Amino acid sequence: MRTPTLHERVQAAKRVVVLTGAGVSAESGIPTFRGADGLWRRHRAEELATPEAFARDPRLVWEWYEWRRQLIAARRPNAAHEAIAALEVRAQDFLLVTQNVDGLHRRAGSRRIVELHGNLWRVRCPAEGTVTENLEVPLPSLPPRCACGALLRPDVVWFGEALPTDAIRRAYDAVESCDVMLVVGTSALVQPAASLPMIGKAHGAYLVEVNLEPTPLSGFADESHQGKAGELLPQLLGTLGTAPIPNPQPLIPGNPWST
Ligand code: NAD
Repeated sequence: MRTPTLHERVQAAKRVVVLTGAGVSAESGIPTFRGADGLWRRHRAEELATPEAFARDPRLVWEWYEWRRQLIAARRPNAAHEAIAALEVRAQDFLLVTQNVDGLHRRAGSRRIVELHGNLWRVRCPAEGTVTENLEVPLPSLPPRCACGALLRPDVVWFGEALPTDAIRRAYDAVESCDVMLVVGTSALVQPAASLPMIGKAHGAYLVEVNLEPTPLSGFADESHQGKAGELLPQLLGTLGTAPIPNPQPLIPGNPWST
């Protein structure tokens, strides 16, 4: 009997989960943390994305986020983001779990999405506990302040911080009950996201990896494809030649910044 293609497996699946990491945005021109261009002013992300760094020098941390926000605002989702958004529309049941904070999946039209590490287009007031969307580029002053006077922080999960309980619970629930799991552009090193594919596999999911290079996950995957996500995903999912999904929604209705 002929082995089903991934396209056929996805079409037959009751539930599909996609886990993405920084590599899915690399072809949009967003540096990964561990890639050759992952440094900013000679700082590593691990030195800036921490509560300690923010307490020590909030302006420096915000300058880094401001640089990232400006970079991302000028870039567009790529063919990998679009293939994943199209998959959501065609799959019977679907969840996208992303480690990315850049918002590019939403700009491509993905809606069934769990952002495990938050989103740098939201700011949080630690004093009031409020979270608000903020798309201003550039920010008028750094570091930004809440109306209450407290320093605002990006609504992202920093090294050493716990993931939002609801986000990780939704991710676990989905991977434990999916038939097909795609893992795209993640080094599979940052926990707990790195454990999700193995949990999926242990619960019977057909595990597929797409990455530029082998990762600790490659030996466990049912299929491991090496190459660029923006080239491989449309081929594997059979979306080559189809139009991008209709009408991706702006982050804020009417906001011209959104694609
Ligand atoms: P990572 O930097 O550790 O790994 C990126 C992975 O993507 C590598 O394995 C690399 O081989 C692969 N890759 C690079 N280009 C690719 C391409 N074109 N196609 C397919 N694969 C490609 O990233 P991670 O595993 O996501 O973990 C790092 C942490 O950094 C995460 O928490 C993430 O939130 C954060 N981060 C986010 C962004 C973003 O939001 N765009 C950018 C950098 C880092």
